[in-house]
Amino acid sequence: MVRFKCSIKSCQIKAESFVAPLMSAAINFVYPPTCLFCHQGVVNPVGHDFCESCLSKLKPVHVLECPRCGAPVGPYTDLTRGCGQCRRETFAFDEVIRLGVYDGQMRLALLRAKASGGGIMARGLADVLVNEKRAKFEEPGFDLVVPIPEHWTRRLLHPHYAAETISRQIARKLKVRWSRKILLKTRRTPKQATSPTLLRRQQQQGSFAVSRSRQISGKTILLVDDILTTGSTSHAAANTLKNAGAAHVIVAVIAVSPLRKI
Ligand SMILES: [Zn+2]
Ligand SMILES: [Zn+2]
Repeated sequence: MVRFKCSIKSCQIKAESFVAPLMSAAINFVYPPTCLFCHQGVVNPVGHDFCESCLSKLKPVHVLECPRCGAPVGPYTDLTRGCGQCRRETFAFDEVIRLGVYDGQMRLALLRAKASGGGIMARGLADVLVNEKRAKFEEPGFDLVVPIPEHWTRRLLHPHYAAETISRQIARKLKVRWSRKILLKTRRTPKQATSPTLLRRQQQQGSFAVSRSRQISGKTILLVDDILTTGSTSHAAANTLKNAGAAHVIVAVIAVSPLRKI
């Protein structure tokens, strides 16, 4: 009797796991999902939310990039100590993983991701980033994913925060622990775009804190933002994490600025 019941239960589970993907495939066949960016092109149902045309514009145009700062570089660039943009800079982070350059369609997609209600776009871009750079994400063996935090007063006015959504989606895809409570922003700093370049590092210095240093001691941390402009924000945040005991800090962003004046 017992055996009969178990057998039926397992059949039900098997039927559910078999029927759900079939239903999903049938719905996708009748109502094909459309592209998150252009809302017209049909999406390849496996892996991402963009049509092939939009996806090709989001993917990196420049095949080679500086591992230290993410800048696009030429084929014969000596990257031993970074590229021409970052060689003279001191960064507390060890590497940058990025999808593209903040220009053209990528710029428009990121503006949507940062706007109110941009969560779906932010998650879609995070999916493309992980799919494109999966080997780079898997190699270091991350222990924890954290976003570059915003000050709580900004969060009151703008509940949607792209860096947080992107970091959470990356953690979900990589199956790595995510937390927004370990790295904190302790004081407000001016928006980077409105600050003179030379002041940016000074403004960010000492503006982050770690609340649970025992949880990051000796760990490899993935620090996530939406855009890397000069690297001063990521540097200050990574510096705080390393001072609190983190062994390695690698930065992941959707795009790097093409007009960096480091
Ligand atoms: Zn499209
Ligand atoms: Zn570089």
